[in-house]
Amino acid sequence: MKFYNTLTRRLEEFRPIEKGKVGLYTCGPTVYDYPHIGNYRSYVFEDLVKRFLLFAGLRVHHVMNITDIDDKTIRKAGELGVPLAEVTQKYIDAFHADLRTLNILPADVYPRATAHIPEMVSLISSLLDKGFAYEKDGSVYFSIERFPGYGRLANIERGNLKPAAAATHDADEYEKEAVQDFVLWKGKKPGEPYWPAAFGEGRPGWHIECSAMSMKYLGPHFDIHMGGVDNIFPHHENEIAQSECANGMTFVNYWLHCQHLIVDNKKMSKSLGNFHTLADLLQRGCDPMAVRYLLISAHYRKLLNFTFDSLEMAGQALARIKNFDFSLKSIHNPGEADPETAGLIAAAEKAFAGHLADDLNISGALGALFDFITKTNQRMTNLKQKDAVQVLAFLHRLNSVLGVLDAAEEKPLDAVIEEKIGEREAARKAKNFKKADAIRAELKARGIVLMDTPDGVKWKKE
Ligand code: AMP
Ligand code: ZN
Repeated sequence: MKFYNTLTRRLEEFRPIEKGKVGLYTCGPTVYDYPHIGNYRSYVFEDLVKRFLLFAGLRVHHVMNITDIDDKTIRKAGELGVPLAEVTQKYIDAFHADLRTLNILPADVYPRATAHIPEMVSLISSLLDKGFAYEKDGSVYFSIERFPGYGRLANIERGNLKPAAAATHDADEYEKEAVQDFVLWKGKKPGEPYWPAAFGEGRPGWHIECSAMSMKYLGPHFDIHMGGVDNIFPHHENEIAQSECANGMTFVNYWLHCQHLIVDNKKMSKSLGNFHTLADLLQRGCDPMAVRYLLISAHYRKLLNFTFDSLEMAGQALARIKNFDFSLKSIHNPGEADPETAGLIAAAEKAFAGHLADDLNISGALGALFDFITKTNQRMTNLKQKDAVQVLAFLHRLNSVLGVLDAAEEKPLDAVIEEKIGEREAARKAKNFKKADAIRAELKARGIVLMDTPDGVKWKKE
């Protein structure tokens, strides 16, 4: 399989360091607010890559950090006048709930920055000992001049770099044009949390957090590191500098970055106010699986423009898959399977996997799935239950990568219908008759009629 490596700006064949295993690090959220669905484009993309690696038979060890101390979290706690940990815990819980809603597979470890301060302090000490860092006014900075590889990831012309230490960056985020020595350790400030260190009390900068935590759980050299494109500079550039100078070896082999979700040609972001949280969309009645479908349906290196129309279309595409699943589950014809079924499955699976192995060509992969659905729908009336069982197993294998059918869809027909009936009952109890009617209509469209009887709700096929 091939991926586009931001570091080399080329498509490269993926070869794990250790056969059959993948060490994967993804930059997690800064927990000062609810993420928006732009952030989730990155997390859903990373989930697609991880699911595809698993589908290909690789064992993945996935680490996603939680940035629970940085400029933004401290500012928010200050504004609210509550302890930092109270603010961050609220958003950590909300983040995990969203991951479940979007069917994102959990990471193996979610290290929190505040639980890894000793590792960060020791990494900074090592950079000071080796002469890659220096102290100034109680803070510690990384000297970019000392690392010849600086700027390689973000493709910065080294000749244009300002003389090191002419000015330093105390902020965690800044533009590529303003490249300078960056902060590793921020000297203690009034009202801010701080920890002891040989080089003075203070707190870590954002970039050192990810170097220390990835190294702790994945070792000094691992396979894949991912994030959104805005992480390339300065965050990932600085992670490379810190890690490679401390360890004297390559940090990461493959860097994959997801393009932005945009709205009217502008990045969806908190600061522009053009964002939707997942909760906003659910409130409007959007299906979270349609949100997931929309977010994965564009190639990860292309901008994706968010509109409610495109969300609607994603929902329609998803409905086609769900209806297909449903029709297959309704087949009970006895008899032997048609040998053609296995042949069509093999060809479609090969095409699906081949497209994804080509730098996650998702349109090709979804195209292979929909071609297969069209062909199978044409054969549907002649299929036996034994064919349907094979096709369903195939569909669920593909769904192990796409993750767009929720748990209910993976169950047998009776269980799916019972679940829907339960949802309808709950909606009726809550006097949400619109939703209750929508569920009845959805089942009707699939040939299932609900009957309200004194013994409760019964169903039959039309
Ligand atoms: P943050 O919490 O700001 O560090 O962002 C979390 C992740 O979301 C990072 O990987 C960002 O690159 C990514 N991200 C932020 N905004 C967008 C967007 N509009 N589209 C896609 N990814 C984004
Ligand atoms: Zn990071």
